[in-house]
Amino acid sequence: MAQLSDDCFAFGGPMLSVDEAVGIITSKVIAVSETERVALAEADGRILARDIAAPLPLPPFTNSAVDGYAVPGSGLPHDKERAFPVSGRVQAGAAAQAVQAGHAVRIFTGAPMPEGADTVFMQEDVRLDDKGHVVLPAGLKPGANVRPAGEDIPKGHVALKAGQRLRPQDIALAAAFGLTELDVVRRLRIAVFSTGDELASPGDPRAAAQLFDSNRFMLMAMLKRLGCEVSDLGILRDAREPLAKALKQVAHRHDLILTTGGVSTGEEDHVKAGVESVGSLVLWRMAIKPGRPVAMGIIGGTPFIGLPGNPVASFVTFVHVVRPTVLALSGAIAAPPVPIPVRAAFSYRKKSGRREYVRVTLRRGDDGAVEAVKFPREGAGLLSSLVDTDGLVELGESITKVEPGDRVGFLGYANLL
Ligand code: AMP
Ligand code: MG
Repeated sequence: MAQLSDDCFAFGGPMLSVDEAVGIITSKVIAVSETERVALAEADGRILARDIAAPLPLPPFTNSAVDGYAVPGSGLPHDKERAFPVSGRVQAGAAAQAVQAGHAVRIFTGAPMPEGADTVFMQEDVRLDDKGHVVLPAGLKPGANVRPAGEDIPKGHVALKAGQRLRPQDIALAAAFGLTELDVVRRLRIAVFSTGDELASPGDPRAAAQLFDSNRFMLMAMLKRLGCEVSDLGILRDAREPLAKALKQVAHRHDLILTTGGVSTGEEDHVKAGVESVGSLVLWRMAIKPGRPVAMGIIGGTPFIGLPGNPVASFVTFVHVVRPTVLALSGAIAAPPVPIPVRAAFSYRKKSGRREYVRVTLRRGDDGAVEAVKFPREGAGLLSSLVDTDGLVELGESITKVEPGDRVGFLGYANLL
């Protein structure tokens, strides 16, 4: 397990921008180095451990892109149609043949181009005359309707890069190379705790002044989407000693320890003191709304992140702090998600110098353009505001107001997880 120095998350400033926070994370976190080999069918979502250079060109051989007739390019009709005797037939999977000058070969999509032929006429564009010859129209360019070997990917090209989070299309490419297994970074092991006396686990009795713990399940689901193995460690009560002990106990078995709640500076917020008694901790005040301080620390060399308890703050800080940490720990190539421009159907005021996220639903305006409609309420505790919306509008640090009709950047939830 990678060991981090105690002060690696410390920084000087009073307030951290989102970009600064992500910058610190990505520069300090040490990626796990263990890899494992998985079958292609199990590789979706995993992080590729090594570059893959094409062991063969794609397509592997020059072939026809259509059903039709293959002819040598030298004899193509220029100004008027011309009849060609048909000598031979080659279908997908059959061995390539040769074509004589002045002749055509019947060919099908994916079949190897006959030696000597370099152009294919689509069957829809030709007719057969009464001698059984194929009549080809004038004007087709040499090389038309042919897929040359290697036009997609030449042999030796690094087609998949280490750090790629594998998607179905990446797996398709590995399969096209004939690979059966891929070396991927081993799954990260992440410990997840909730904190708070007011929390009850779903399934347990709930006292009148308790609510069911929802964040832990949200965070575990988000981590699983990132390909992590999650240890569900339940709820820690608001007491420093047992909290500290529990965190210390799991540190050596995990790549990251994650908690939610208890990171404010109230008397009943015990995470800070708890972590400090077994490791080191800094509170990151991030210039982000919703959000509150995020606790960053090290326990026994293992990174620790304490997220705020309010569900929406927990969600947003997960996206901006935990997600980049998880990606960095797994050595993933991590470009921040790019907001898509949409039209605001709301007005909004904000402070400059802080990044804000507005929960929105998308709809089509009267002119067909995509509009973002703001969720009517703003509380950071409103789970419905995450459930009933499609994503977040990102308002950068320099923006102070939004008016209906303005262009704003939208991040769909699917792109954030
Ligand atoms: P805290 O950050 O501990 O001060 O909690 C802030 C608010 O979030 C309080 O109203 C908590 O009850 C609520 N909260 C904390 N943890 C959770 C959780 N795991 N699930 C749902 N709500 C929570
Ligand atoms: Mg609490």
